[in-house]
Amino acid sequence: MARTGEQVAVGVDLGGTTFSVGLVTADGTLVADDSYDTPRSPDEPLALSAVAAAIGGLIEKSTIKADQLLGVGLGIPGPVDPEAGIIKQAPNLHELDGVNAVELLSKELEADCPVFIGNDAFCATLAELRWGAGRDVENLVMFTLGTGVGGGIALDNEVRRGPRQIMGEVGHIIVRPDGPRCGCGNHGCLEAIVGRDGIVNRAIRLLEQGRASALAERAGPRHEKLSPKMIAEAAAEGDEVALEVMTETGHYLGIALCNVIVTADPDLILLGGGISKAGEVLFEPIRRTVRHRSMISGYDVSRIVPAELGNDAGMYGAAALVIDAVVR
Ligand SMILES: [Zn+2]
Repeated sequence: MARTGEQVAVGVDLGGTTFSVGLVTADGTLVADDSYDTPRSPDEPLALSAVAAAIGGLIEKSTIKADQLLGVGLGIPGPVDPEAGIIKQAPNLHELDGVNAVELLSKELEADCPVFIGNDAFCATLAELRWGAGRDVENLVMFTLGTGVGGGIALDNEVRRGPRQIMGEVGHIIVRPDGPRCGCGNHGCLEAIVGRDGIVNRAIRLLEQGRASALAERAGPRHEKLSPKMIAEAAAEGDEVALEVMTETGHYLGIALCNVIVTADPDLILLGGGISKAGEVLFEPIRRTVRHRSMISGYDVSRIVPAELGNDAGMYGAAALVIDAVVR
């Protein structure tokens, strides 16, 4: 519960399959939240109407008064123009491409309050900077490891995106020029190697070479059950094939970290997203590579740490967009 009269921001993390809405106080306390399936329609921005209804429901349920509401922040899975309020492209929610989300949401909301939008990776980085693993530093780089690899860069206590909104796109750091093709069309981007498919495909290749591994049985006849989580678990049990895949994953991540260390000189490097939960089988090769390869900085590898806010980072960060704009 919010304290009587305490001001709150609404944070919305909109994804292609589900979305979550939360009420967050200015000091980063989540007071209430809900999550729903994202409704889809080929040519209507149904998702935004559902978001507006969910916000209304959450406010009603938590008995927040109109004067306690600071505003609504909306995190979008794709590039946005935060000044114009426009979703430039939402790869998993194409019906929102080009939509002015700020205008539309303001119209559909019952409450009269400002609306802000941000890219989801930007939001997650902002959340960690304000209230998560980065709350005690002003400069950090975050890597979000999942199906794809996203991220963000904070300098002087602000998350930066650059004039073309690409600063912090750490998934497209080239770590192996002759490497596999990335979704962006380039070869050897970090995402092509340590994203979900990159990890799974390397394990499949080793299994197809006939290497003995506990994964062979668990993966199913066409390796269809293979996942980074399964590979990380087998690696933790000492499976050699799985260890080889995780060591290589950590090595290439380490190379990318070395590149951001000399680019951004971060106080901390945060690793978030599902694959970051692999633990030591991932962190150990990352730290080893950084120890051996960050020659001029002599980067202290204890500053490479897991992000703290997990799946809620996007929602917290969307609320932080509001708090940064109207309170800070
Ligand atoms: Zn790429």
